[in-house]
Amino acid sequence: MAQDSRQAAHIRWLGAAQLIGVMRAEPGITRAAAAQKLGIGSGGATELVARARRARLLDETPAPAQGRGRPTTVLGPHTDGPLVLAAELRVADWRLAVAGIDGDPQVVAQAQYASKDPDVVLEQLANEIGTALRKTPKRVRALAVSVAGTISGARLVQFTSRGWHDVDLSALTAKIPRRAGVRLLLGNDATLAGLAEARTGAARAATTALHLIVAQGIGGTLVVNGEPISGAHGAAGEYGHVPFADPALVCPCGARGCWDLTVDGRALARLREDPPPADAVGYVHDLISQPHRDTLTRRAFEAVAASLGRGIGGLVNLHDPEVVTLGGVAAPLRAAAPAAFDEAYRNALMSFRKQSAPPVRDGVHGEEGPLRGAVTLALDHVTTAAGLAEWADRLPAG
Ligand SMILES: [Zn+2]
Repeated sequence: MAQDSRQAAHIRWLGAAQLIGVMRAEPGITRAAAAQKLGIGSGGATELVARARRARLLDETPAPAQGRGRPTTVLGPHTDGPLVLAAELRVADWRLAVAGIDGDPQVVAQAQYASKDPDVVLEQLANEIGTALRKTPKRVRALAVSVAGTISGARLVQFTSRGWHDVDLSALTAKIPRRAGVRLLLGNDATLAGLAEARTGAARAATTALHLIVAQGIGGTLVVNGEPISGAHGAAGEYGHVPFADPALVCPCGARGCWDLTVDGRALARLREDPPPADAVGYVHDLISQPHRDTLTRRAFEAVAASLGRGIGGLVNLHDPEVVTLGGVAAPLRAAAPAAFDEAYRNALMSFRKQSAPPVRDGVHGEEGPLRGAVTLALDHVTTAAGLAEWADRLPAG
């Protein structure tokens, strides 16, 4: 297609892109409410929705009658509409999900790591991706991958918990024919969880939100106007490697004094004089579920919660967020010693911030945050005006 006609096609799809944006922000929205959000009349909305239906982007079902208002419909994804795939490489297992434009992921494959060799694991996942693609011919438009590690470009620089270094993730597209035009997008799990909280979770509607997630170590992201700040190579948000801790502690990342070492299960184990746990998250859950805490354990929880609170205070001074959200085991760690957390948080804040300290909320997506964030990232690419024009181009005639 020539440049001019491509641009014209994009412009034609701007209205549909805005409509889908409203649907994604408010699942289950009615046509009347969507029209109001977009500032268009009911005639314009009818036309826009009809066009999007013809393009297999959305469908309508009758809305339950409400008062004396005119009957309207609920907007939802089309049964033959665009799909995205979201893969998640977690510490202990991986999974693959499919989602439509409503952003609700359905897990279609999940397995423990079959090998220490990344090539073997990526091939297994690539095969599942190929299978998912064949089951939904021509509907999958993007694949987003969430990784519990550091991403730079298409490379997984560091996946400490699995001992992977510098792995090229484009191997995941091995079973996707080039002509299918499926985009590969990558994100760090903490960044994607923050994206999910900012769009549909505990930081919804905040213009500047900070999300922090504790698993093995701590990661996070600053989300501004709904977009995570990703840095020049997609590697921003390594909050765990800010030197908030004692420089005597050496971090596996290569730096000293990393905050990472003082806020997770490894820190609890060190403070309790236990050997380093193989599963830092499981260690936290086990310890929290014990009915009785001895003094050593209570102090360990207080020290970890205080380190968490102090660091968050520092980050609030740095970023000035409206809200801070917690994911992973950050929320239960705070809840295990709330007074220690609150005191350290307040003490770290500059005085002018203490009066109106941003709330620190538990995230609503929990363990599902990274997967939901990966779906969001993929849909962001698929539902732009350009993405919709491309989808419409590929529809069979008639
Ligand atoms: Zn580090």
